[in-house]
Amino acid sequence: HRELLHSLKSILPTMAAGKKELLMLENFIGGKFLPCSSYIDSYDPSTGEVYCKVPNSGKEEIEAAVEAAREAFPAWSSRSPQERSMVLNRLADLVEQSLEELAQAESKDQGKTLTLARTMDIPRAAQNFRFFASSILHHTTECTQMDHLSCMHYTVRTPVGIAGLISPWNLPLYLLTWKIAPAIAAGNTVIAKPSELTSVTAWMLCKLLDKAGVPPGVINIVFGTGPRVGEALVSHPEVPVISFTGSQPTAERITQLSAPHCKKLSLELGGKNPAIIFEDANLEECIPATVRSSFANQGEICLCTSRIFVQRNIYSEFLKKFVEATRKWKVGMPSDPSASMGALISKAHLEKVRSYVMKARAEGAQILCGEGVDQLSLPLRNQAGYFMLPTVITDVKDESCCMKEEIFGPVTCVVPFDSEEEVIKRANSVKYGLAATVWSSNVSLTHRVAKKLQAGLVWTNCWLIRELNLPFGGMKSSGIGREGAKDSYDFFTEIKTITVKH
Ligand code: NAD
Repeated sequence: HRELLHSLKSILPTMAAGKKELLMLENFIGGKFLPCSSYIDSYDPSTGEVYCKVPNSGKEEIEAAVEAAREAFPAWSSRSPQERSMVLNRLADLVEQSLEELAQAESKDQGKTLTLARTMDIPRAAQNFRFFASSILHHTTECTQMDHLSCMHYTVRTPVGIAGLISPWNLPLYLLTWKIAPAIAAGNTVIAKPSELTSVTAWMLCKLLDKAGVPPGVINIVFGTGPRVGEALVSHPEVPVISFTGSQPTAERITQLSAPHCKKLSLELGGKNPAIIFEDANLEECIPATVRSSFANQGEICLCTSRIFVQRNIYSEFLKKFVEATRKWKVGMPSDPSASMGALISKAHLEKVRSYVMKARAEGAQILCGEGVDQLSLPLRNQAGYFMLPTVITDVKDESCCMKEEIFGPVTCVVPFDSEEEVIKRANSVKYGLAATVWSSNVSLTHRVAKKLQAGLVWTNCWLIRELNLPFGGMKSSGIGREGAKDSYDFFTEIKTITVKH
């Protein structure tokens, strides 16, 4: 542990001391860190300065990773679930022991508050390993005896092979480990490609693998851009299974590239998540929860609320209190313990999010607080970082792009509704179907509405409470497949029926 801390700390304090020594990430293939022939810059979103150099990998690196994963597969897949589970538990311990170093790096790389990285992202990464270490031990085979045919039938599940795992920038280590953990627990070897915008904690994870007892080649991490290295991974004929979390247009491309090989695909995509607030909702609980669900992690969570439907007779009261509460949601440097929101991921993303607010204004909507109405506090205003205030839009039509398209930033729209039937129809009128939230003190109503909403996840009178055992995923353009204990196990294994005649 001391050695490990030394290796992680040797990186971070030099940067904290302000020295311009850049982190140079390396690919991790076959248990070795390997340099790349070219690199791309990755930025610290809170300062706009280059934070690290990320390998600009391509086909060559994917070939090397496939070779390493292929070699490691027979031994790893032959280990018992108990043996694999022990390795995952050790990995969970090591992530927990490195929590502070990983949280600091995640916050600097992604722009999220250090508080969130410490309390959500990194603990959840450790929990992912621990959870799948345990759940892998509880999967059983099915067996039936069919006497009249003198046969015994049973099923076995076998790992698929080399799994390709592609993850986004919003919850970097959290989502990467949500894929790595079940894939290796089920006996696969993996090639993971994190987002080129947030690669640091994945690289730090590589430093823990040997100490956890992960054999070389079981986890390979290859860095770089989607079109170059992502496509090389997806197109590789020896990678039969792809688990992807990211945007809908990228999923479309991945689906096309996978089609000639009939690959197994899991797609976790975007959302345009509604919150429905009925007149009997407990506003004292609902308002802070809806501010959080709209703006947590700068609104950069696929589950964030971006359309708030409020029953007409409480609409004015809700709007007034919601805007007041939003104005108290402090934007600050990610390291500021009093900040609720840090910086957005990139300049390009900040501009895209702002452009939605401008379009809404041009269409006649009202911007009640945030972008273009209020000003960032002084040190931030002069900072080159990608900061934006949480923004509330109203008087906006359901047909507006702000009500239809995923913005994936700190912008939320609030509109009134009259009846249950009407609001269900409007909530379901977008192409996405990831998550929804219903607020009411009428229990039958919450169940009734939850059942009719087109969403893979519905929270009633709460938001973001997750039970990892239960399926996670979206309907319609929000994805294909589900993740979670049994669902991930099913995805990362093939089922086979065996019949034995007596
Ligand atoms: P993105 O699709 O741009 O990128 C995601 C990953 O795919 C990155 O690693 C990227 O390098 C890679 N990629 C890009 N083009 C590729 C290609 N042609 N071939 C192979 N790989 C490619 O998404 P993003 O901007 O990083 O993430 C934001 C999106 O992710 C949002 O839409 C958000 O809702 C979604 N998301 C969904 C979930 C979920 O669980 N449903 C969770 C988090 C984020």
